[in-house]
Amino acid sequence: MNKRAFVTKEQIEEIVKQYPTPFHLYDEKGIRENAAKVKEAFSWNPGFKEYFAVKATPNPFLINILREYGCGCDCSSKTELMLCEAIGVVGHDIMFSSNDTPAEDYELAGKLGGIINLDDITHIDYVEQILGKLPETMSCRYNPGGVFTLSNGIMDNPGDAKYGMTTKQIFEAFRIMKEKGVKHFGIHAFLASNTVTNEYYPQLAKQLFELAVQLEKETGADVAFINLSGGVGIPYRPEQEGNDILAIGEGVHKVYDEILVPAGMGDVAIYTEMGRFMMGPYGALVTQAVHEKHTYKEYIGVDACAANLMRPAIYGAYHHITVLGKEDAPCDHIYDVTGSLCENNDKFAIDRALPEIEKGDYLFIHDTGAHGFSMGYNYNGKLRSAELLLQEDGSVKMIRRKEEPKDYFATFDCFDFWEKLKG
Ligand SMILES: *Cc1c(COP(=O)(O)O)cnc(C)c1O
Repeated sequence: MNKRAFVTKEQIEEIVKQYPTPFHLYDEKGIRENAAKVKEAFSWNPGFKEYFAVKATPNPFLINILREYGCGCDCSSKTELMLCEAIGVVGHDIMFSSNDTPAEDYELAGKLGGIINLDDITHIDYVEQILGKLPETMSCRYNPGGVFTLSNGIMDNPGDAKYGMTTKQIFEAFRIMKEKGVKHFGIHAFLASNTVTNEYYPQLAKQLFELAVQLEKETGADVAFINLSGGVGIPYRPEQEGNDILAIGEGVHKVYDEILVPAGMGDVAIYTEMGRFMMGPYGALVTQAVHEKHTYKEYIGVDACAANLMRPAIYGAYHHITVLGKEDAPCDHIYDVTGSLCENNDKFAIDRALPEIEKGDYLFIHDTGAHGFSMGYNYNGKLRSAELLLQEDGSVKMIRRKEEPKDYFATFDCFDFWEKLKG
């Protein structure tokens, strides 16, 4: 499949007059079309809700777009909860899926009335202590252990993951919480990441539905929802075929009708916590080629670096690159595309076949809309870029300004930095 950029060179040349590169650019039209499809895919389930994984793209403007499609927020920390509170996402529109959780985080989750998804059985007492009393609705994160395999060979290793409770623990947790007055229960599991197959959710759902039936039977707890969490992937590589969310929704519907309905559990709500699938393809890192270097390899240096997009550096993740204006030129040059960190893994691409790149060309690094900007950091004194929204009418709105040196130095309260500089 040919991966096309959602902007042209001409559009970028306009945008950079106001906002210099690098920046993350998001495509409002793409976000909306996809969110509408997700809603449709699960419309057979009246209680369905997608809790967008805030950590993927913690930007209030983007989250507010998703809210128009009924989305809530999945938070993992106190600051993410604060972001939600600030935009009016409260109560059961919050799913709090944390682990190794500080007390102050649970305190705020409780105060906002969010649904607490426990990662560990010892957190029952911990949350009770912090909040005084367990909320009426509680969720538990499940980890069946072992390996999780799909027919296309994708697999993940839950047995090696730090998350969730064992089978024995989750039964015990439901019993304890029921005794403590909890009325409604949820089950959550995240067993494989970035799955590019329509099979993952249905297979996970089957496992969780069977567990839910057993849990209700053996503990008498009311299972109100089943949370399939994240893990639905996107085709980062041009040869990959993307997921069909309508087929995924139908696949979950089918196992729902096979397992939950006959068990008299046809009122269970399905929740999801997708991050990557909701936002990944609709963001891009736009950067300019500023340097070329010919040594043992051919290097193109750009004005972004791993501090703006960490995935290639830490996971060797593939991000497709389009050289804007050269979409149809032959890819007859082999380059390493590098950032300026003093780190040899600061490369957006290694041995990548691309059209000939000249200084001044704009590179569109695809699929940075999730786990892109948000993983940014300040190594080498690098500052985070702006985030821009390409709106449906073609205009651009800044939805986060770029960092300035004052932001980098803001935490030196104990040292009068600016005085020293002026001195
Ligand atoms: C990261 C995360 C998600 C989102 O994962 P994606 O791969 O972006 O869909 C959802 N739920 C939890 C608990 C997470 O940690």
